[in-house]
Amino acid sequence: MKSQTQAAALPITEDDGFIAEALESASIPTLMMAMLHITGDLSLLEGTIRPQKAVMGDTQGLLTLEDQAEIRRQALDVLTAYRDGDGQLPAPPSRETILRMMRFFVGEDVPDTYVPMMLEEMDLDNEDSRATAWKKKDSSTRKSDFHVLVIGSGMSGVLTGIRLEQAGIDYTVVEKNSGIGGTWFENTYPGARVDIPNHFYCYSFEPNSNWSEFFARRDELRDYFEHCAQKYGVLDNICFETEVVSARWEESNSQWSVQLRDSQGLEINKKFNAIVSAVGQLNRPKIPSIEGMELFQGPVFHSARWDHDVDLNGKRVAVIGTGASALQLVPEVAKQTSQLHVFQRSPAWMFPNPNYHAEVSEGKKWLLAHVPYYSRWYRFLLFWPGSDGLMPSLIVDPEWPHPDRSVNALNEETRIAFTEYMESQLAGSTDLLEKVVPQYPPFGKRMLQDNGSWLATLVREDVELVDSEARKITATGVIGGDGREREVDVIVFATGFHTNKFLWPMEITGRQNKNLAETWGDEPRAYLGITVPDFPNLFCLYGPATNLAHAGSIIFNSECQVRYIMDSLRGLLESDYSAMDCRQEVHDQFAENLNEAFARTVWAHPGVESWYKNSRGRVTTTSPWLLVDYWNWTRACDFADYTLTD
Ligand code: NAP
Repeated sequence: MKSQTQAAALPITEDDGFIAEALESASIPTLMMAMLHITGDLSLLEGTIRPQKAVMGDTQGLLTLEDQAEIRRQALDVLTAYRDGDGQLPAPPSRETILRMMRFFVGEDVPDTYVPMMLEEMDLDNEDSRATAWKKKDSSTRKSDFHVLVIGSGMSGVLTGIRLEQAGIDYTVVEKNSGIGGTWFENTYPGARVDIPNHFYCYSFEPNSNWSEFFARRDELRDYFEHCAQKYGVLDNICFETEVVSARWEESNSQWSVQLRDSQGLEINKKFNAIVSAVGQLNRPKIPSIEGMELFQGPVFHSARWDHDVDLNGKRVAVIGTGASALQLVPEVAKQTSQLHVFQRSPAWMFPNPNYHAEVSEGKKWLLAHVPYYSRWYRFLLFWPGSDGLMPSLIVDPEWPHPDRSVNALNEETRIAFTEYMESQLAGSTDLLEKVVPQYPPFGKRMLQDNGSWLATLVREDVELVDSEARKITATGVIGGDGREREVDVIVFATGFHTNKFLWPMEITGRQNKNLAETWGDEPRAYLGITVPDFPNLFCLYGPATNLAHAGSIIFNSECQVRYIMDSLRGLLESDYSAMDCRQEVHDQFAENLNEAFARTVWAHPGVESWYKNSRGRVTTTSPWLLVDYWNWTRACDFADYTLTD
């Protein structure tokens, strides 16, 4: 049997010289996997050229330059023969062979339990198996009078729209902004880019061979999501500049009565059978209350509400905060300002990543688009080393003798390596080094990517790192912990978001008049991060305790959640039920497991303040689960977990 899908590769028509040049940009282990698919010859798996254990940031399997050259030479023969042949591939490798290939590829055991998840993530057969399969043909009658409200058109809202569109279920997406993209629409600050590798930070069913950088900038990401919304027909179903003010569950008809408000302030009421909240966790800017704030005479704005009318050229600027947003914007802003003061309450740990600002070569783009299966295995290579393998270094070892600075031996190794990385950049700047090396364990807060631009900016003569919080603001500047005022023209708050107020400020009222915000208080919990008892047919994406702080990409998590939600809707539509409500005991058991799991993680470390925790220091936003577990739990909805209403 010949494979027809060839993992959606474009035909190869280029000459040998072109191909040879493109191969210079190849990830060699990835190329080896493609060669196996193209030739069907498995002898490479027995050869002496073998990738070593995959590590984050390396895509060459730590192979020697000679070995890389040898594989390129062989690959040129394979690709030219494929080009000159009939364009057909041998039968796809068996599942056993794929497993051998996986293990060879990443130089370590890929446990059997991971194989189905990774196969699905790679989508080798181009079948998009995460899409909903209808089990009953006659469900169409119910589909026609079932209408879903999706709140938000960011990454997860667009994804939900795509799946509902494919399933033929009516839906409306409401979006408070004037365009799609969510976080990639709102964050326009200089230097805004993703910090998860892009060939993996994209929908599994919609790969993109044309990312211009390995970590694309905001515009390109926004364009990608808009392209997806357009391609899959979601765009026409989005009501822009419309906010959900409130939603109330109506027992009499099993519907949500939703109050919507447009940009003119006009309110209308609509009914929906189900709501999917895709509002994200990081979009309500948080500006700390600092004494004297109202006195400042110059422009003040938040990183996620960048004021492009303010020209920073030649200005004296204060940036408050040193989280992910600040780490990206400070190096860019410093190129314009005459003097920049960065107020750091606590420093961040960073992954060294030389590719962080690098462009993707034309050769690499060509390989991704033209070499069968190359892009699929490349996705695997980006996913795997940043997957569950990191989890052990985040779990507290109660016997570990240095609990203040690290949580276990692996975590300590990371601390030493990351500290050395900073030291290597700051030779001769002992003062600065003392300020920028965190005292808390690595992974305690959101890890950041760095290519050296952060510290290179801080050592500039016209940049000052103020090693304290911003204590006070005056008419003319900002005062730090040393009591000294830094006179500035502009203040930028890179101080994060209200992360603990999920679905805020919407008023959601469920069964028995229960208010969602009151139910949650400051410790929101949801079964699988998705459903909440007494709020029937309400589903959260990126809900409580679903942020990924150890592995994967939030797109992976959203694809898991959307599949679960679609399976729930399928179940409702294929049955005579109109509503599903998570059983309290199921929810509570999940919450208890969650609390137990959190207590063992670095995120709960007493020396760490972060947006993962609530004001009482309890972790609320982040997921402690292995990706493979969460993937398994969300593959299908078990209706035994729900109370069903006729
Ligand atoms: P954040 O991580 O919550 O950082 C806020 C910063 O403000 C922290 O450094 C905090 O200090 C500081 N801060 C708060 N009040 C302060 C005060 N009075 N004086 C001095 N500093 C103060 O917010 P963010 O940087 O906007 O990032 C939020 C999340 O968004 C990230 O963790 C990430 O998940 C996401 N994000 C992703 C990307 C990306 O993918 N590229 C980019 C940006 C953001 P403490 O640390 O001491 O609290």
